[in-house]
Amino acid sequence: MKHTSYIELNKGALKKNIRFLKKRLGSNGKFVSVVKGNAYGHGTADFVPLAEECGIDYFAVSDADEAEEALKVKSDNSELMLMNYIESEDLAWAIENDVTFYVFDFDRLRAAAYSAKKLQIRARIHIELETGMNRTGFLYKDCEAVVDFIKSNKDLFQIEGICTHYAGAESVANYVRVMEQRELYKKMLEIFTHNGIVPKYRHTASSASTLTYEDTIMDMARIGIAQYGYWPSKETRMFNLLSPENQFKRDPLNRVISWKSKVMQVRDIEAGKFLGYGTSYMTGGTERIAIVPIGYSRGFSRSLSNLGTVLIRGRKLPVVGMVNMNMVMINASECSIVKPGDEVVIVGKQGKRSVSFASFADLSKYVNYEMLTRLPSSIPRFVV
Ligand SMILES: *Cc1c(COP(=O)(O)O)cnc(C)c1O
Repeated sequence: MKHTSYIELNKGALKKNIRFLKKRLGSNGKFVSVVKGNAYGHGTADFVPLAEECGIDYFAVSDADEAEEALKVKSDNSELMLMNYIESEDLAWAIENDVTFYVFDFDRLRAAAYSAKKLQIRARIHIELETGMNRTGFLYKDCEAVVDFIKSNKDLFQIEGICTHYAGAESVANYVRVMEQRELYKKMLEIFTHNGIVPKYRHTASSASTLTYEDTIMDMARIGIAQYGYWPSKETRMFNLLSPENQFKRDPLNRVISWKSKVMQVRDIEAGKFLGYGTSYMTGGTERIAIVPIGYSRGFSRSLSNLGTVLIRGRKLPVVGMVNMNMVMINASECSIVKPGDEVVIVGKQGKRSVSFASFADLSKYVNYEMLTRLPSSIPRFVV
């Protein structure tokens, strides 16, 4: 293998996560697997077929380039939803490839109608409603006009969804705002259904709202982070682990991803020496230092300098000195038998210990979402 590190995707873990989440969604809640950001760093090309094997048949991406990647690897039986931006001139491409997409303003609505008419194929759209996030989507005052436009272009549309997105369902600090959004969504939805525009799916929930506010699930939930085995936040985790059903018996989410490398060189450095670039770390005594060929160009953030940990021979060992572009130094003094070629677990389990992206996120300024998506697509992925 020419790569200095590799990623493993654990099928068993994914299966368990999907089973747990599907139970939460109930029999009417369609599971949409969100695979934007290169499947949260897991790798779209490997993750999409794996998720299909675990029973997923609806995927969501952010933009057209991501849709293109997903189309290459998904089966014909799976649906695809584009939740964010696509150029108007690419709408014809989306319609022809049966990609369902968000319509968030009148320009996009008209452009979709134009492309559908030209192709003589209905555009399958999700009408996005702005309910309080103050980001994208139609406003309350727009709804009547949207209804009128769709009614007068009935043959050009198939209303796949009417949807919104909550501004932070992962924190109780946003409770009031989320509840207000849910109420406004219902009010706006009424305007559509009252006029005979009934979507196939009413959808508002992401991982956090699915796991916190059951009634946001409706007909569908767009599940990202949780399917990969990560909690949207500590609050969501506590809320679920403390629930009467769980009572801290076990964590129902299992991490799908592991990331591994090897020790490249080992050397003993005497006391009072600075390690690597600069003077951020000085040895306290003679220290055994293991060099690992990963760095910030490989997704191991420089903010983990003198903070991160890796696993070698079942021990949790600290990063010492600055993370370099392609190298990191590990203090392996407490593990005298460490030698070149030893497996290094950057994220995942080894023996009884584990390191996760969540722990990275605690140590650096990144949330687990960002840590995951910063994993370069060039690192090879293997399903285990
Ligand atoms: C990313 C995203 C989701 C999934 O969010 P998670 O917190 O990862 O579950 C759902 N809906 C929209 C619109 C998104 O952009």
